[in-house]
Amino acid sequence: MKLCVDLGATNIKVGLIEGGAVIRSASRPTVTDCGREGVVSSLKNAIDCLYHGAEDAVSAICISSAGTIDVKTGTVIYATDNLPGYTGFCITDWVKQTYGLPSVAVNDGHAALLGELLLSEEYRTERVAMLTLGSGVGGAYAEYGELVANEQNNYALFGHLPIAEGGIPCNCGRIGCMEQYLSGRAINRLAAEHGIKKDTVFDLFLQGDAAAARVAERLKGYLLRAIEAVSAVNPFDTLILGGGAADGMGEAFSYFAEGMPCKVRKARAGNAAGMLGAYYLGRNL
Ligand SMILES: [Zn+2]
Repeated sequence: MKLCVDLGATNIKVGLIEGGAVIRSASRPTVTDCGREGVVSSLKNAIDCLYHGAEDAVSAICISSAGTIDVKTGTVIYATDNLPGYTGFCITDWVKQTYGLPSVAVNDGHAALLGELLLSEEYRTERVAMLTLGSGVGGAYAEYGELVANEQNNYALFGHLPIAEGGIPCNCGRIGCMEQYLSGRAINRLAAEHGIKKDTVFDLFLQGDAAAARVAERLKGYLLRAIEAVSAVNPFDTLILGGGAADGMGEAFSYFAEGMPCKVRKARAGNAAGMLGAYYLGRNL
């Protein structure tokens, strides 16, 4: 049995996972107003609430975390001020010192893809790219069941591949980034330009609304260009779409998947994705 953690800037989710199934789970708030000490004590609180009583059964602690994480060393290379003092923290050393257990640590975007690999045997036999359409666009990439990652976290930057020449300026300083066209925010902005209220475009599309159909057609064009941009750097067989905007597509998802040059699938791991992905990474510990 593994104790799996999903550390975010608001909450820390923990779960006891055995054979790929979550047996028990809990969540604790992340303390972010007293530097690293606060973050680490919240991590300990969250782990302890499941660890006590299960000490003999837990063989490893597997952690998915916000921030740029070096999978090889289990160290936080970079975290924003959402997690103050967290940069430079070696997660796996801390687990070893505190619990005497082996550990793995991985970025949460990468963990989301690993969670999908855990749930699908098919994905483990091919090359898979994932785009997480949230307030930004996150990315991850795996080949034949193994995450492909590097310290620069290039795969997480799929969202900043350019898909529109002379397009919308991005907060990264470049122009025409995928994130400016396919993030939840971008989708709402495009919908608003067509007189459609926030978060209603996919429902209206399914009801046959003409303006929503025009938005959907534009979005599908952007998705195609995003697929081409990712394929140019990392060829893949299946694209998995996750995040709030992909969930929001509901029944409209099949419209976006149809006629694409690769398989396009919706993420299935949902809320537990980070913990399941960390479990998959540490499955042999
Ligand atoms: Zn950008």
